[in-house]
Amino acid sequence: MSGIIGKFDVAVVGRGIVGLAHALAAARCGKSVLVVDRNARATGASIRNFGFVTVTGQERHDMWPLARRAREVWTQVAPRAGIAIHQEGLALPVRRKAAVSVLEAFMQTEMGEQCRLVSDAQLRRIDPATPFAACEAALLSPHELRVEAREAVPLLAAWLEREMGVTFAPPASVIACEQGRAVTADGEYHAEAIFVCPGDDLNALFPRVIAEHAVTRCKLQMMRLAAPGFRLPRPVMSDLGLARYEGYAALPEAQPLIAQLRAEQGAHLEAGVHLIVAQSADGSLVVGDSHDYGDAPDPFHHEAVDRLVLDEFEAVLGPAPQAIERWVGVYASSPEQNWFSRTVADGVHVTVVTCGAGMSTAFAIGERVVTGALNAPIKEIA
Ligand SMILES: Cc1cc2nc3c(=O)[nH]c(=O)nc-3n(C[C@H](O)[C@H](O)[C@H](O)COP(=O)(O)OP(=O)(O)OC[C@H]3O[C@@H](n4cnc5c(N)ncnc54)[C@H](O)[C@@H]3O)c2cc1C
Repeated sequence: MSGIIGKFDVAVVGRGIVGLAHALAAARCGKSVLVVDRNARATGASIRNFGFVTVTGQERHDMWPLARRAREVWTQVAPRAGIAIHQEGLALPVRRKAAVSVLEAFMQTEMGEQCRLVSDAQLRRIDPATPFAACEAALLSPHELRVEAREAVPLLAAWLEREMGVTFAPPASVIACEQGRAVTADGEYHAEAIFVCPGDDLNALFPRVIAEHAVTRCKLQMMRLAAPGFRLPRPVMSDLGLARYEGYAALPEAQPLIAQLRAEQGAHLEAGVHLIVAQSADGSLVVGDSHDYGDAPDPFHHEAVDRLVLDEFEAVLGPAPQAIERWVGVYASSPEQNWFSRTVADGVHVTVVTCGAGMSTAFAIGERVVTGALNAPIKEIA
């Protein structure tokens, strides 16, 4: 090791969306900020996701308010960082009466604010170009934003460097962190506060602390389908989403639907399949996904699982165009909480989003964690 490489007020380990959100919050607190990552650019969950900043359907008490705040930050950051918002809102047509009951119950909660429950005929009038199959009803939410994750995250990093004064270190694995020091093989960075945002890297830093939060991994299969010849005004989900997203699934009215789905689409539930269809600028569709849990999920694409996703696509939107790209992504996951931030030494904090909602919540989590840890006021984004 070759001594001290640099000194900053704040060091962030990890340049995924969670690390960048912490870096933004620290910069807004007026701190000098360093970001260090083992890779020269983000390659993990943060660029493999749908780029779907989802508010409606998030867990009611913590994640829904966090997602609302994070959405606000996205709307402030995106134009400044040159990040395009490709779609806004959500259409969730359902084909079962039990699913309509869930949506009706959802609309009675505060989470239904500004959402609409519409009939099949109304949906066709609102989105005339989308070839929706017949549905019992559809939820329309205005809240969601859709960015192209693989473009948005690098643009966010570039803007943080250019406009917010954040320094990005040359690629290096951080092999140890303790009060005031983040150690790499090339030397160490000194900082009064260190935020470790390791994503699904559960074993490198503070593995015991992470294990105390019952964190494992979740592997997802994703596809890009050729442009279908129509524009989707907003991303689309389906009945299966009501069994996965806690904002719906935790409602008592979801139980009959989940029982019906088990009977009718058991293989989908078994593979953790639900449907999100988002559209990119070139018209191609980002479609997924599945959920396979384990500490070391295999890295392979399973055709049978993609087939289940495509079955659901076809039940909602008709014949699926050809797949032109496939990938897997992995995020940290826990049955015990959706995210946590733990102080592991004086001035050293570990933040992990342990569910599939980091793009939707990281900006708000970063604000909350960083202002709490630094006990500092935070400025609006200039
Ligand atoms: C397929 C898929 C679809 C998803 N869809 C959505 C969605 O539509 N909406 C949504 O809200 N969320 C979605 N998610 C979840 C979301 O992508 C994650 O919650 C989020 O990206 C996690 O961000 P992160 O910064 O914690 O992790 P990562 O993006 O994995 O970043 C962690 C970074 O830390 C670095 N690192 C770790 N340890 C070290 C170390 N010791 N030294 C140096 N560097 C280190 C890694 O190199 C990595 O760059 C999806 C996830 C997947 C996989």
